Amino acid sequence: MANIVILGIQWGDEGKGKIVDLLTPAFGAVARYQGGHNAGHTVYLRGRKVVLHLIPSGILHPGTLCLIGNGVVIDPKAFLDELEALKTVTEIRDDLIAVSRTAHLILPYHGWLERAEEAALGDRKIGTTCRGIGPAYEDKIGRRGIRVCDLLDPVALREKIFANTAAKNAIAAARGLAPLDPERILADYSDYAVRMAPYIKDVSRLLHETIRAGRPVLFEGAQGVLLDIDHGTYPFVTSSNPTAGGVCTGLGVGPTAIDAVLGVTKAYTTRVGSGPFPTELFDDDGKLLAKRGDEFGATTGRPRRCGWFDAVAVSYACRINGISKMVITKPDVLDAFPAIKVCTSYRYKGSTLRDYPLEPGVLERVTPVYETLPGWKTPVHGLGRFDELPAGFKDYLRFLEDRVEAEAAVVSTGVEREETLFREDVLDGLIDLSAVRRALGE
Ligand code: GDP
Repeated sequence: MANIVILGIQWGDEGKGKIVDLLTPAFGAVARYQGGHNAGHTVYLRGRKVVLHLIPSGILHPGTLCLIGNGVVIDPKAFLDELEALKTVTEIRDDLIAVSRTAHLILPYHGWLERAEEAALGDRKIGTTCRGIGPAYEDKIGRRGIRVCDLLDPVALREKIFANTAAKNAIAAARGLAPLDPERILADYSDYAVRMAPYIKDVSRLLHETIRAGRPVLFEGAQGVLLDIDHGTYPFVTSSNPTAGGVCTGLGVGPTAIDAVLGVTKAYTTRVGSGPFPTELFDDDGKLLAKRGDEFGATTGRPRRCGWFDAVAVSYACRINGISKMVITKPDVLDAFPAIKVCTSYRYKGSTLRDYPLEPGVLERVTPVYETLPGWKTPVHGLGRFDELPAGFKDYLRFLEDRVEAEAAVVSTGVEREETLFREDVLDGLIDLSAVRRALGE
């Protein structure tokens, strides 16, 4: 069976968590490769809502190896708290959880710096979660970061915390802010070190061993392609690479280990935070999408901006990730609409753009060109078989496939695991669906 990447091909919140959780029984390991606890992956376990931030979305299936790669930035307190909370929900085997030795740590000064920087940007703020993710990546690239392995070396930990806190306190002084106490940070992180120690491992090696043993791996992306630091709507992006390339650098596996990439997209579009969003709606249709889709961020509770499906953006996302198969989520949100629009190109200064423009000055000024399709006006919610879908919905799906140039391999029709349909002909043996169905009790 194949090792596959599952990643979001819009601006995040596409429903990746549900899909990863559902498919986990077909895989030996689930591995996160980027981001931090700014992610919010919502999954439902027997009707109970569970939001995962840092821990891979395979965790609700006991027996699955859950790996956090070197490309992820770790707030040890967030990790330990999330694990504790999960232990009240499901059986967790500590020996099956691993955090890379070379992942970078988030320290208290990171969140503090981010809040100060966002405040200073005023109207131009990025709209981040202010959890210190960006500043932690800045320190990583600046070669002054503190890594998970440093937790296991008390001398190095003290030295690095004192040096870094002194540098950040110089910034605090320049801004008239109170300094942070390195002794206090050291005390907290020494405590986390003891509690984190059992999970600190060589994640790259564990992955190689899993793959060599013939057990497929699911690589789980956080955020989405359009938030990628290199390929997204810079500067309104996240500080890592959610794109498929991030798997190799963020986990220590070669590109030859990746057999396929599945892109998850909503049947419409949402975006949290600032930045250009050509198909954003400010009218009643937008309000109806937000209401029916319950569009509030899983991590911050912020309302998500909503708009029609943007085929220009999604087809770009598929191209740069080598995606030919998609997972379509939340089509049930569109059940109520008599007519549904899809953006198929942009107009800019009198010309037609079919390629996604990455210059913010252009993307902010494009006018979306829409094609309108009739709505299906019957519930697709909860349907689990392709032949049960209304004809209008199948037409919509075919239209998206045609414009994006990728096939819909999986369609989600609700929040629960069972509310999903698979197109086996499109999946073409990539995923062991019999394992998924057994776990569903089918
Ligand atoms: P993620 O970060 O990509 O995992 O996405 P989020 O968890 O932030 O947001 C997706 C939301 O959509 C969650 O609340 C899911 O429970 C929900 N969801 C996923 N698939 C469907 C679907 O097919 N229909 C509906 N109505 N909701 C869905």
